[in-house]
Amino acid sequence: MSINRRSFLRNAALAGAAAAFAPHRLFSHPNHYLVNDMKLRFYPYTLELKHTFTIANFSRTTTPDMMVEVEKDGIIGYGEASMPPYLGESQETASAFLGKVDLSKFPDPFQFEEIMPAIDAIAPGNPAAKAAVDIALHDWAGKKMGQPWYRIWGLNPAKTPVTSFTIGIDTEDVVRQKTKEADIYKILKVKLGRDTDKMMIETIRQVTDKPITTDANQGWKNRDEALKMIEWLATKGVVFVEQPMPKEQLDDIAWLHERSPLPLMGDESVQRLADVKKVQGVFDGINIKLMKCTGIREAYKMIILARALGMKVMLGCMTETSCAISAAAQLSPLVDWADLDGAVLIKNDLFDGSTIVDGKVTLNDRPGIGVIKKK
Ligand code: MG
Repeated sequence: MSINRRSFLRNAALAGAAAAFAPHRLFSHPNHYLVNDMKLRFYPYTLELKHTFTIANFSRTTTPDMMVEVEKDGIIGYGEASMPPYLGESQETASAFLGKVDLSKFPDPFQFEEIMPAIDAIAPGNPAAKAAVDIALHDWAGKKMGQPWYRIWGLNPAKTPVTSFTIGIDTEDVVRQKTKEADIYKILKVKLGRDTDKMMIETIRQVTDKPITTDANQGWKNRDEALKMIEWLATKGVVFVEQPMPKEQLDDIAWLHERSPLPLMGDESVQRLADVKKVQGVFDGINIKLMKCTGIREAYKMIILARALGMKVMLGCMTETSCAISAAAQLSPLVDWADLDGAVLIKNDLFDGSTIVDGKVTLNDRPGIGVIKKK
């Protein structure tokens, strides 16, 4: 017997054995591997911020990050977990979580509805680490299909929103300077929640009359004072107020919602899909972030649900490289507002991806999440 014939018989025997376990796979997808050999790699990375970033109760100059890669069939999918320390994840927790992820046990890497719940069930919490895997898998699958995700979802890339540029709590001089630097942006996002709120808004209004969105980051503790501040903001060209009060004070926020002249957007109160229905009637809309909701799969579902409940939607971010920003940008034609300036706030972006052109989120036609790794 020739070697070729022996190897044919051996392969035929293997195929027969495999068919006994999974005949549908063998016959409907003859080119697929019978065993998924997808590899997952990860390494820590520290994002360096261009400016010290201050919100209601925190300041920092770096953001810990974990880069994730999945590889199969010579295609690499990229993902990322950005973990601002106040949210509780770290490079150590992400590393421990990702070490438990075994993608090879899922026979088909396209079956997100099988894979993502299984990854979610590995451990509670860890939303950024889970998002990193979700983003990398979507990048891989989009590249394998040769299409960007906005096309796979049927979205029009011309319908991306403008993105706001974030101005953190700072001194008058710095706020004035940052407002001038935000020249290309059509809308500003101003962090509030301290006793300098009126100074922040008045300083910006000395420089520009652009629309302003505001984010109190749970900083207002008293609902009567919060309402007075919102009424004042409504006279200053403010578009909406994000998370006016602490995330668990939904009754107070609902009270505000009944009286507020401005729309209220939920951020810290709304982490994942299951939270959306809980805040109907409390907020006018929700701020979805991939690092909170475990990735673009769940983010897409949250958008659909929020729309069905008549709510507004914005897409936000942490400080992130263009990897996670480009993943979120794929969804952006579906939302009312974007706050996707995370990659322009850092000095050491590892990726080329979606860009901001004249203040507007701008998608490219690369497959997957649309990124190329630099160097
Ligand atoms: Mg926010």
